[in-house]
Amino acid sequence: MSLTAALGRAGKHESADARVKTPIASTRNLVKQYGAGETAVTALAEVDVEIARGEFTVIMGPSGSGKSTLMHCLAGLDTPTSGSVTVDGLEVHNLRQRQLTKLRRTKIGFIFQSFNLVPTLTAEENITLPLDLAREKVDQDWFDEIIAAVGLEGRLKHRPSELSGGQQQRVACARALIARPAIIFADEPTGNLDSQAAGNVLGFLRDCVTQFDQSIVMVTHDPLAASYAHRVVFLADGQITGQLTGPTVESVAAMHLEISSSSTQAGA
Ligand code: ADP
Ligand code: MG
Repeated sequence: MSLTAALGRAGKHESADARVKTPIASTRNLVKQYGAGETAVTALAEVDVEIARGEFTVIMGPSGSGKSTLMHCLAGLDTPTSGSVTVDGLEVHNLRQRQLTKLRRTKIGFIFQSFNLVPTLTAEENITLPLDLAREKVDQDWFDEIIAAVGLEGRLKHRPSELSGGQQQRVACARALIARPAIIFADEPTGNLDSQAAGNVLGFLRDCVTQFDQSIVMVTHDPLAASYAHRVVFLADGQITGQLTGPTVESVAAMHLEISSSSTQAGA
């Protein structure tokens, strides 16, 4: 099925309803502390956040404000000190190790700044890895649709070292999508890319949301990257300090500057 057909199938009336449905992911009083005693660091201080289904949400904030920790707690890659995390109706903070592994393989896609591809596998093998690990069959039509959308035809037999940074990140994007996860987390996915390659990756992520009704949360420092999102949530010192819906490059840059300067003053 073509992307346009997929878009048609999603249906405009349905997506209006989807906006008011329960959030795809949320946290309540989420606290994450690293270490103990005098050297303890509070990375997240009672964070309440809701991630809307079928939307592109961006998280911004100064370095060390807890962005990666929040993403890792949401994705079941890190255990909260206290509070709750819910993803697609599952209470992630209550899951046992085996259930967490299943959650990460079936419901969650994760895209890292450093791509995190397996160097000895081809692009194709990297993309189907989540399904291979879960011993599930690859849906060839879906695979072909993703490859076409991400523009990796003719590169599938290459290993990561034979691909450019932008191509490697598009392999990582395809890998994140292959199991049709409920939600995709991307932690500074364009941080290591030049502006053209970054634009390709961002365009692809936005298409995933508008055409496949995928829910995506992305961390970025870049107001231009943030302007691809439906909503931007700002973090400072482990707390949510503001948000913008329908962000533009200008509105994000202004908010980012304001929050960064007030958090620096508070920390000084
Ligand atoms: P960001 O992604 O916004 O830069 P992080 O979530 O990586 O921030 O970090 C938030 C805070 O938690 C920082 O002060 C960082 O030093 C601290 N931190 C993160 N991971 C660890 C860890 N594994 N051990 C100790 N401190 C950590
Ligand atoms: Mg980080």
